[in-house]
Order: sequence, then structure tokens, then C-alpha cells
Amino acid sequence: MTDKINKKEKIEKSKKKEKIIVSACLLGEKCRYDGIVIENSEINKLAEKFELIPVCPEVLGGLPVPRPPAEIESGDGNTVLDRKSKIFDNLGKDVTANFIEGAEKTLQIIQKHKVQRVILKSKSPSCGLNNIIRKGIKIKGSGVTAALLLQNLLFLEEFE
Ligand code: SF4
Repeated sequence: MTDKINKKEKIEKSKKKEKIIVSACLLGEKCRYDGIVIENSEINKLAEKFELIPVCPEVLGGLPVPRPPAEIESGDGNTVLDRKSKIFDNLGKDVTANFIEGAEKTLQIIQKHKVQRVILKSKSPSCGLNNIIRKGIKIKGSGVTAALLLQNLLFLEEFE
């Protein structure tokens, strides 16, 4: 009987936790372009207080793991969303549509779960919030998903 009550309490408690969308690679999911697993202990600790929902826009956009690294050719995620720039992987394949699809699907998940807070992986052409990488150099700008979420006025943070 006590066990049943405890289980019910736990479920009720987890339902009440605020939901946060997190770049899946920061939670140790094998979704990075290089197939390497990373983890951020600071974010793992958030699981005590929040319900963390992992999302990888590039995988949602249909890209495999591992995959060739890709870069936004000019501008940033906003320029891509305006269809004024494209994204190519290092084999020369145009992956723009995958990146846009992944960003749109991420936004749909956020809206479905009514999430206000999103934690993103820095410097990625999808998830980077303040910087992206072009030709090995860190430049100012957002990735495609970060740009779309910013346009939808979500509260975004980024982690290494
Ligand atoms: S940075 Fe974003 S797109 Fe790249 S692997 Fe992590 S979650 Fe996926």
C-alpha cells in the first residue's frame, strides 16, 4: 500500500516538474556529427528539479550519426531561414533542407510540451546561440534552430 502511494507521489511530482528542452548531445546522447558522446554534469544536475527533454535538430532533420561536419556558407541561421544562405557539409552536399526541417520539428516539440526554456549546445550550426564556426573560426551568429527559436521569443541558454 505504502509502495503504491510512493509511486503515485513520484509520478505526480515528476508531472509537476517544469520542462526544459536540451540539445540531446549535452545529455550524453550519441547524436553529434562525429559520433562522440559528451556530457555536461551541470546540466545532468538539472534533472533533479526539471524534466529534461532531449532534442537533436540535425537527427530530427534526417541526418545520420556520424555525419560529415557542415557549415553555414554565409550569414547565420537567420540568413538560412530567409533562404539567402545555404548549409553544405564538408563533402559539398547541400544539407540546408535537413537543418531547416530539424529546426521546425524542434519548435513543434517545444510548442507541444509548452516549454519556455531551452538549453542549447554552443557553436553548432544548428544549436549555437551566440556563435557559430566558419572555416575553423568562431564568428558571431546563431545556428538555424537557435535562430528559429529566438524568432519565437523563447528563453534560450547555451552550454559548452
Ligand atoms: S549540437 Fe544540436 S544538432 Fe548538434 S548534435 Fe548536439 S543537439 Fe544535435
